[in-house]
Amino acid sequence: MSAPTTARGIAAEVRSGARRAVDVVEEHLVRIEAHEGDVHAFNLVLADAARAQAAAIDEAVAAGRPPGPLAGVPVALKDNLCTRGIPTTCSSRILEGWKPPYDATVVQRLAAAGAVFVGKTNLDEFAMGSSTENSAFGPTANPHDLSRVPGGSSGGSAAAVAAGFAPLALGSDTGGSIRQPAALCGVVGAKPTYGLVSRYGLVAFASSLDQIGPFALDVADAALLLDVLAGPDRRDSTCLAETAPSASARLGEGVDGLRIGVVRELADAEGLSAEVRGRLTEAADALSAAGAKVAEVSIPAAVYGLSAYYLIAPAEASSNLARYDGVRYGLRAGRAAGTGDDPADVSAMYTQTRSAGFGAEVKRRIMLGTYALSAGYYDAYYGKAQQVRTLMVRDFEAAYRDFDVLLAPTAPGTAFELGAKTADPLTMYLNDVCTIPSNLVGHPAMSVPFGGGSDGLPLGVQVLAPALGEAVMFQVAAALEACAPPVPVSPMRGGSR
Ligand code: GLN
Repeated sequence: MSAPTTARGIAAEVRSGARRAVDVVEEHLVRIEAHEGDVHAFNLVLADAARAQAAAIDEAVAAGRPPGPLAGVPVALKDNLCTRGIPTTCSSRILEGWKPPYDATVVQRLAAAGAVFVGKTNLDEFAMGSSTENSAFGPTANPHDLSRVPGGSSGGSAAAVAAGFAPLALGSDTGGSIRQPAALCGVVGAKPTYGLVSRYGLVAFASSLDQIGPFALDVADAALLLDVLAGPDRRDSTCLAETAPSASARLGEGVDGLRIGVVRELADAEGLSAEVRGRLTEAADALSAAGAKVAEVSIPAAVYGLSAYYLIAPAEASSNLARYDGVRYGLRAGRAAGTGDDPADVSAMYTQTRSAGFGAEVKRRIMLGTYALSAGYYDAYYGKAQQVRTLMVRDFEAAYRDFDVLLAPTAPGTAFELGAKTADPLTMYLNDVCTIPSNLVGHPAMSVPFGGGSDGLPLGVQVLAPALGEAVMFQVAAALEACAPPVPVSPMRGGSR
């Protein structure tokens, strides 16, 4: 089995005719065949469809038609992205049997760019979670150590890239769901500026926070993928009319003279391991040695981020998930569905369907959100959380007067054992303490692998930038990648453990 290469390498070879897309996809399908039983990155592998897509790319190359910037590159799609005629489950029973009648905008853009879809990846149900254990189809394992979680909610996508099942994957990030699993799986993951990438066809969790973004093996590949995804879309009214400067524009320019702030409240966040803090300091020192001006900066409102997020996200989720009523999508409880007696009336049908179709965490969020939005509590909870959001926007504005980008940890530690945090939701929520602020303010942020912990597992450092600051964010990320200590590689991609 040949070693997987970067997306850039594959696309260049396929474009030039040096390598056939059908061979590329076959190599990845062989790797999936060998290890997917252990990892469970996918809810669905699209082997035949991928072979057909690859053959069409090879035909385009042979006919002299431009095959696109991602020609023949295998891509894994998080299973909350709509794919026409292909089951889209959000890892929930409630969508059982549902096939979207349309493709998400990002899916269309990738197909037009020549990408080959190898499968739909596992996630925490409706993207609610930090470990991919809240999936109706069972957890995904971390390719570096099968007894550990891959992070979440986009754990399947992160694991697919780390295992060499695809060099690129898409995830969605509402509170850290791209960046945290990227850190735990030793890959690059980026959440773009809110509105840079169309959410059309992304099944909504918390619409004011959700963004789609790239997973990749390195920073330049993530930039390439983001550049394909980004851009206006009239089908998503929150999608920006302007396009940010290309994420790839300043790769390789280094950090000489850039001002980089280390966020004190996140570097000192509750539950952070000493190792993670140590790696963050190492990263700051390395960037300083590379010519950046590094100093500490304060985002005082960041300490309220977690509390505000766990009011706003469930509030929006309780509204977004009201549509799963047993009528319009997927599951309807009753004898035919194998969920007990047929309901007596419409109201019983709703209750039985939602009781059988949603898992425990989703039910918890719907209840929390409904409570936070209810008369008498709205001002005290939801309203206050929105005020925190405004305070945080002001804090970041102040910080970006003095700094070009900010630095923070991504996750509090390396990948934890499967089952270690499932009993206590609050411990699980603490995983997102460093990633949530960027979602609340709509700014871009990304995780770059930066060495490993004493357990030999990867960890990441986060680069944060102001709105539409993708070019400088990727510039710093590339510099960080260049000075990072050796990053653990999963055994499935040829690493040793
Ligand atoms: N882990 C966070 C949550 O459970 C974030 C999830 C996400 O970004 N989709 O809500």
